[in-house]
Formats: sequence, C-alpha cells, structure tokens
Amino acid sequence: MLSKRAQNLKPSPTLFLVAKAKELQAQGHPVISLTVGEPDWPTFPVAAKAGQEAIEKGITKYTPASGTVELRQAIASKMKADFDVDYGVKNITVASGAKFIIFGALQMLISPGDEVIINSPYWVSYPTMIELADGVPVIVECDEKDHFKMTPEKLERAITSRTKVFLFCSPSNPTGLVYSKSELKALVEVLKKHPDIIIISDDMYNRLMFDGSKIAHHILHVAPELKDRVLCVNGGSKAYSMTGWRIGWAAGPEKIITAMSDYQSQSTGSPSSISQYAAVAAIKHADPDIDEVVKKLIQRKSFALSEFKKIPQLRVIEPQGAFYLWVEMRSLYGKSYKGQKILSSKDFADILLNHFYVATVPGNECGCDGYLRLSFACTEGEMQEAIRRMASCIEQLS
Ligand code: PMP
Ligand code: GLU
Repeated sequence: MLSKRAQNLKPSPTLFLVAKAKELQAQGHPVISLTVGEPDWPTFPVAAKAGQEAIEKGITKYTPASGTVELRQAIASKMKADFDVDYGVKNITVASGAKFIIFGALQMLISPGDEVIINSPYWVSYPTMIELADGVPVIVECDEKDHFKMTPEKLERAITSRTKVFLFCSPSNPTGLVYSKSELKALVEVLKKHPDIIIISDDMYNRLMFDGSKIAHHILHVAPELKDRVLCVNGGSKAYSMTGWRIGWAAGPEKIITAMSDYQSQSTGSPSSISQYAAVAAIKHADPDIDEVVKKLIQRKSFALSEFKKIPQLRVIEPQGAFYLWVEMRSLYGKSYKGQKILSSKDFADILLNHFYVATVPGNECGCDGYLRLSFACTEGEMQEAIRRMASCIEQLS
C-alpha cells in the first residue's frame, strides 16, 4: 500500500522516545524524561502576550509563504547585529519549524545521488532528511579525539565530485560542543577549494553559550565572503522556548531561499500568522530573558556535572553551549541487568527507561555508540533524581 519512501521511513528517534516515556508515565510510572531537546521554561511573556494580541487583533490569516515582511525584517536586523551581514527580505524564509527549513533546503538542493557531508555524532534527523531528498548521507566519524567535530583533514577526504552540501551544527546537538574561530577558519580553507559546495550552518543553539559570549562563533564571522553559499538556519524553539509555536527560518542566497519558499507554498503553505507575530516580539525584545535562561543553564550544567562525579563509570563531556550532556558509558559494556547484557548505548538506555524510568537518547541514534545524550533543560531536582537512579542501576549490574 505504501510508497518505497514510506517503507524506508523511520520516525524521529527523539520524538519516538518522548512518546514512549509519556506512555510509561500514563501507565503510572514515575518517568523522568531527559530525552527531548525542549526547554522546560515557559515561552517568554513578551512573545506569549504578542501571540494573544495577534489573536485579538485578528492576525489569523494566511501570510506570504516565506513569512511576513515584518518577521523577515526582524530576522534580517538580527543577522546584521550578529554577523554583520546584510540580508534583504528576499534572503529570508520562515517555516513551521527549523526542522522543515532544513528538510526543505535539502529537497531544493539535492538531486538523486548527491552527497551531503555530516559528522557523527549528529542530530538524529539529518541522515533521514538527506535520504528523503534522495541524497546520500556521507557520515564522517568524529569521535572524542576530534572533540566530536569535523576536522579539515576529514572534510577534505570526504569531499567527492558528488558532494553538494556540508551540513553542521554549532553548538552541537548532541554534544553541546562549539567550533572555535580557528576550527571554523580551517574548515573554510577546505571549503574555499570547492566552490560548488553549499554550507548549511544549523545555528539552533547559537544563543545558548556558556562562556559569556552572546552568540557562538559562526562561519560568516570568519569568512563573510562565503555568504553566497552559506544557508543559516535558526528558529524560535530553543533560545526563545517556542517549540510548540513552530517557527524556524533560514537566511541565505536568494536563489535557494526562493526555491524553499516556493516549495513551502506548495506544501505546508505559510507558517502560523499568530506564531510569526509572537516571534517578532521575541526577536526584538527577549534578549534579556535569554540572558537569564543562560545563567540558569550554566547553574544546571554545573550541578549535573558535580552530581555525575558520584558515578565513576560514567564520564560527562562538559558542554560549551545548548542544553545537552554527552555522557560516555562504554565501561558498562559486557555488564548485565537481570540477564540483559549491555552491548550498546541503546541496551543501557532501554534498561534505564524500562526498569528505572529514566528516559535518555542513546548515542547510536546520533551515529556514535557508547554515549548517552541527556537534556538538562529540566529542574535540578529532576536531574538529581535521574542521576540517583542511574547510580542505582549501575550498582545492580553484574
Ligand atoms: N536543528 C537542531 C540541531 C535541533 O536540535 C532541532 C530540534 N528541535 C532543530 C534543528 C529543529 O527545531 P524546530 O523544528 O523545533 O525549529
Ligand atoms: N531537536 C530536538 C531534539 O533533538 C527535538 C526533537 C526532534 O525534533 O526530533 O531532541
């Protein structure tokens, strides 16, 4: 009955795990979910009020497929302030979430067999999105010795005549690690030798930085001359805690943006008018709120890091941004819980969820086994209890 495309389709592992955690919760189990990358703080009042105002004022109709001019202008001003680059409204498109932005960009850039280079560990959805565009994900393993980041040597080696896109994310989901200026410069040197490659910079977490900077280093900071081949992706979900409002955007070359906007006009249509109105308020006025959130995240990160010291079998990679802990668990390989052997991070995550009611994302979903991704966008109490249960689980392993 279903198409070939549907037969090969896997659901988003993060959203699948969230659903599983909710199911166990509904059965009355005391689940602590550290799975989904979703802020636990409310949408900032300035944006929430604007959303209400939009409804009251009747701003409840279709907008242009690429988003309202007002929102695109607000994004353009932000891009100017962040990266000192000039974008007009024709360089920006807004969609129902950054996920659809990346999906649409790949649909518009990739022809069958074109290659997209990503590094593992990667955000869970990248490979499937590439495959849905009939592209080939070229996954470059970048483990701990590379700080989980793409290196210039590995990038150079991965490039072929079929390479169409290099897609990367900083701060990274899942590791929370951030490319330094010099690391970006080194990648730029390689990319300059290959002028046909389009660069997609997934900047979803770039305002959630723990070193006091307002924004993560960006490829446009080190190489503004690449502007004609860089597509910058961002949205309301993370820094502005607007996951349910579904607003994401891209800024980049007009040709790509127009194609993405046309694709949208034939698929989802325009993003929600109410959410767009709220996003304008968030972009213009929520910077002080983000500062507060970042302070809280830094505290939560330090708390979690100190609690994890009680479990020597687990090693946490300290994140520089976003809100994920990337936790190495390889010392547990070969151990068993009630006869269930741990041979992968998935095995450990399954035991944690089914017997200790702690939901995590196993690293193999991010293309890097031996690690777990934990979101620390939760209260310190929840994190403390989750870590206590993990310690108890590990004590019971034979
Ligand atoms: N990129 C990354 C790296 C993400 O973690 C997410 C998760 N939400 C997205 C893009 C998409 O976000 P959204 O669709 O909620 O805007
Ligand atoms: N990006 C989030 C995550 O990685 C949200 C889940 C999703 O969209 O898959 O958990």
